Amino acid sequence: MEKQCLECGSAIKGRADKKFCDDACRNAFNNKKNNDNTDFMKKVNGILKKNRSIMLALNPEGKKSVSKKSLSSQGFNFDYYTSILKTKEGKVYYFCYEQGYTPLENDYYLLVMKRDE
Ligand SMILES: [Zn+2]
Repeated sequence: MEKQCLECGSAIKGRADKKFCDDACRNAFNNKKNNDNTDFMKKVNGILKKNRSIMLALNPEGKKSVSKKSLSSQGFNFDYYTSILKTKEGKVYYFCYEQGYTPLENDYYLLVMKRDE
């Protein structure tokens, strides 16, 4: 069975484990892959930074309860965070960098800020 180059699709001759016809195709393919990763990381980093700045703007004092609406209306994305903190009481805090939140009742969230230890 003939293998095809992952980059240009032309038939590869030679060793069975070859994936590309030559170095140029391998480099082109890997560069694209790296760019995709970078784009993805940029997107995620952008979401995290946005989440952080939304919380920071709403919570300049370091502790404040806000409605879910006031977060989501500004484009807050609850799917992305940098870390989770679980307390002994079973509360879960989601952090975007040093800014965090924990769900309260009735669609409210308590915003908190991580202090330097
Ligand atoms: Zn090729």
